Amino acid sequence: MFTLGIDIGSTACKAVILQDGARVEARAVVPLGTGTSGAGDVLQKVLAVKNRQIEDMERILVTGYGRFTFAGADSQKSELSCHARGVNFLFPSVRTIIDIGGQDIKAMRVNAKGFLENFVMNDKCAAGTGKFLDVMARIINVKVNDLGEIGLKATEEVNISNTCTVFAESEVISKLSAAVRIEDLVAGIHRSVAKRVASLAFRNGIVPEVAMSGGVALNKGVVALLEEEIKRNILVHEDCQLAGALGAAVLAYEELHK
Ligand code: ADP
Repeated sequence: MFTLGIDIGSTACKAVILQDGARVEARAVVPLGTGTSGAGDVLQKVLAVKNRQIEDMERILVTGYGRFTFAGADSQKSELSCHARGVNFLFPSVRTIIDIGGQDIKAMRVNAKGFLENFVMNDKCAAGTGKFLDVMARIINVKVNDLGEIGLKATEEVNISNTCTVFAESEVISKLSAAVRIEDLVAGIHRSVAKRVASLAFRNGIVPEVAMSGGVALNKGVVALLEEEIKRNILVHEDCQLAGALGAAVLAYEELHK
């Protein structure tokens, strides 16, 4: 029996097919967010993995910023609930989740069953989000996927004093014209994200174990510096960006069995 979870994010669409609420059957990511063909594309992509049909899906639960735009969902749930359940599926021991997506940062505390206890979120500002990193990668002319490895090669971090994305953009351009090493500049950008995210996480209280979810968790440079800032080890699963979609598939299964 299959359930399907779809996460229609601001920047990327993710989907997971779960078998019997226990085993991941298929996963897919499309780097297009809400309001684009991303949701339809990710649906086709995830079904194609094992040549399944939409009719094979017993229940479809949709989450993410664009969750109310998807026709054909059986139900919708918030990203907070879905990330909490998804991370609990991957790492049952986790009590603090730091989710960094395309446009927001969330620090969540969860119980042993993966139910949300409390959370804090960034205000409507791109500082510290995936968007901030996307903008900086474009200025430096590297792929956002390569930022992590580049930043890890830094020998001397360049300090970025502005947190505001627009001001930081000008600051990075002026550092580039001063011919700093790209690796050192990228590490400085990662430090700025790590500091911003750590201050949010401290506001909510950090209880071990800690995991990261969302696309920015794929950036090893940010993860390493965030570990330094919060002085704790951070668990990152290879499916971290799919945590919301996975949680949606888990919740879809539970809705059928309550
Ligand atoms: P949303 O749910 O808001 O659409 P995601 O959780 O999917 O956001 O995260 C999207 C962000 O993740 C992008 O803005 C980008 O900065 C980052 N990202 C995506 N893929 C990678 C990757 N392979 N390596 C590093 N960062 C990535």
